[in-house]
Amino acid sequence: MNLLTPSLVPEGARDVKAAAAEFADEHVRPNSTEHDATGEYPREIIREAQAAGLAGSYVPEEYGGAGWTLAHRLAVVEEWFRADGGIGLALQLVDFGAKVVAMTGSEEQQAEWLPPVAAGDVITGMAATEPSGGSDLAGMTTTARREGDEYVIDGEKYWTSNGVDADWIVVYAQTGEPEHSGYSLFVVPTELDGYEPEEITGKMGLRASQQARINFDGVRVPASNRLGAEGSGFYNLASFFNYGRIAVAGHGIGLAASALEAAWEYVHDRELYDEPVSDKQTVRHRLVESREQFEAARALTWEACEHVMTGDNPAFWASLAKSHATRAAEDIAQTAVQLHGGEGLREETRANRAYRDAKYPSIYEGANAIQRDLAYGHWPERER
Ligand SMILES: Cc1cc2nc3c(=O)[nH]c(=O)nc-3n(C[C@H](O)[C@H](O)[C@H](O)COP(=O)(O)OP(=O)(O)OC[C@H]3O[C@@H](n4cnc5c(N)ncnc54)[C@H](O)[C@@H]3O)c2cc1C
Repeated sequence: MNLLTPSLVPEGARDVKAAAAEFADEHVRPNSTEHDATGEYPREIIREAQAAGLAGSYVPEEYGGAGWTLAHRLAVVEEWFRADGGIGLALQLVDFGAKVVAMTGSEEQQAEWLPPVAAGDVITGMAATEPSGGSDLAGMTTTARREGDEYVIDGEKYWTSNGVDADWIVVYAQTGEPEHSGYSLFVVPTELDGYEPEEITGKMGLRASQQARINFDGVRVPASNRLGAEGSGFYNLASFFNYGRIAVAGHGIGLAASALEAAWEYVHDRELYDEPVSDKQTVRHRLVESREQFEAARALTWEACEHVMTGDNPAFWASLAKSHATRAAEDIAQTAVQLHGGEGLREETRANRAYRDAKYPSIYEGANAIQRDLAYGHWPERER
């Protein structure tokens, strides 16, 4: 069974969806259990995906990328996460920082930083969150102090995906007062002196993906590495997150599909009282309830994707889809584990992995409480 039917996916993104599904069958799913158990970052699978033009491809065509739209991104991400959340996140985030550069960088900056990502030669990241809390973006304390033709960055970032393996990351830092107009974005090569990453260990899920705590000790970057005007960082990041949150809704959809498919299979195979467990009406109802949640979340996600692509109140639609789809994934994975009985409590089962992985997307890229604040604030019919 594959619940990720192509019907909701726009025609133009169906080929790339099929390629991602094939890649997932060949390279992701067979390695899922091992990477979940060891937590090893999937460098070899990333290289394969780069070579296949499936990782690092979210770069405009003029800079060597595949010119994917958000619909391509979502179609691919659903498939990655259905196969494995941790490997899926690692594959998706190869061009995480590149997307920020594509959205906010000048032509010169894009020409400098994007072609190597599109060629599959580098890995990128984006560091906004700090140990003191990720939700309050106007309260971050890492500073970038101007000294002549350079900025000097000091502070600490937390949970930065690819923070150890990335070749460069985009860093969100304070360049003025700690208020919305007091932050800027910088491209920071990770080879620079004073860039000190340490991998975060002990994660309950998404184990194959890599996150780091990074200490910035007087890291000097040329002023030409600043993306956009000084003070524009908060606003640029907010626009970027509208795209990212559609992808994160896709994380929820992929994980929900995986959990529900596993639950269906298990209750139809498992025999109790001389009949399959699926003969029990309450079991059937739980499957159907999960399917209702899944289809509603997926339809909303694709609807929201269209709104974000056309610039129609993107903050409202992206936050609505992100909070709903990630919550649905948590609920569906919880049901799947329950229907597996004791087997669902073993880490190697697909349902258990989806259950552990599904806790993450409702927290990252803005916790769901923040998404609801955003949706309320951007309510389309709201009187201003
Ligand atoms: C696997 C993973 C990958 C990540 N990758 C990156 C990355 O690449 N780059 C990056 O910058 N960050 C990254 N993050 C960080 C992530 O974005 C943050 O964890 C997230 O924004 C929440 O911040 P926090 O963990 O500091 O929680 P806090 O900000 O401390 O919030 C804690 C909780 O308080 C509640 N809360 C917060 N604000 C409100 C509110 N306004 N109203 C009601 N309740 C509220 C919510 O329940 C929230 O979960 C990643 C995190 C994970 C787990």
